[in-house]
Amino acid sequence: MRKAILVAFAALLAFGGSALAENYPSHPITLVVPFSAGGPTDAMARILADHMRTTLGQNLVIENVTGAAGSLGVGRVVRAAPDGYTVSIGHLGTHVANGAIYKLGYDLVADLEPVVLLPSNPMIIVSKNAVPAKTLKELIEWLKAKPSPATAGTAGAGSGSHIAGLYFENVTGIKLQYVPYRGTAPALTDLVAGQIDIIIDQTSNSIAQVRARTIRAYAVTDDKRVESASDVPTTDEGGLSGFHMTLWSGLWVPKDTPKDIVAKLNAAAVDAMNDPAVRKKFEDLGLQMPPRDKLSPQALGDWQKAEIAKWWPMIKAANVKVE
Ligand code: ASP
Repeated sequence: MRKAILVAFAALLAFGGSALAENYPSHPITLVVPFSAGGPTDAMARILADHMRTTLGQNLVIENVTGAAGSLGVGRVVRAAPDGYTVSIGHLGTHVANGAIYKLGYDLVADLEPVVLLPSNPMIIVSKNAVPAKTLKELIEWLKAKPSPATAGTAGAGSGSHIAGLYFENVTGIKLQYVPYRGTAPALTDLVAGQIDIIIDQTSNSIAQVRARTIRAYAVTDDKRVESASDVPTTDEGGLSGFHMTLWSGLWVPKDTPKDIVAKLNAAAVDAMNDPAVRKKFEDLGLQMPPRDKLSPQALGDWQKAEIAKWWPMIKAANVKVE
């Protein structure tokens, strides 16, 4: 009898799940950006959402839930109902590094379902214009000669800009003094105003200010130049050979979200990334499209696990302090 009730209950759940998926989405979807409005994650989310809303026939509303390097925003999605109406956008920092730095109260792999891998962003080393260095070599000399550490803006301990800073310190032996913000949008405002010295930023965030010459760029952290900022050398060309880092992004939903709903979100995001107008917007920002054979939910899940295995030991060894 008990077994029969359980079987009936399971069948009801399965039926309820598929009915939910069939009508999905029947009202607006919230896309939680875990950093400030106007920053690189926010910009990617808005370009994507604009196209996804045409495919899904429902609005995607951006909600910026900021703080603690994006871990608060991801937590908001983990605790949401697993119905596809609350989606998390994040990156190597929020969905990998933060698990090694913060006591999150959730598990980045077990408590979320991967949806799709999104474009990646090479980093760019930028300073306020008042820094006297003109090349990457001169910048490194200036940073080494400074009596006190230079200030480096980040989006918090564990964010992309912070991981890039740790990597830079590691390779050059330079010490930086990190200044955490709720995203690199406000960090960039302070860089332009001369309040902080440098950011190792996502290219898409800094690129407009670099073109406007309100800040100075030294190098992009990739093995090839970014087409839309082609006068900025690569780190290899600038003398920091092998200093490469691109910050990949992705979409997730709460665990137990029905597979059909995950598939609908995946298809809408892939559609957006295949659209020439969307690709052009991403490429103008210096973003690189993910490989076509890495676009399934499973591929993002495998990639996230591989990145956790790669980065956690390094981050734990760096003994990162949460400011
Ligand atoms: N992605 C963050 C933002 O949107 C910045 C970072 O991770 O450094 O502000």
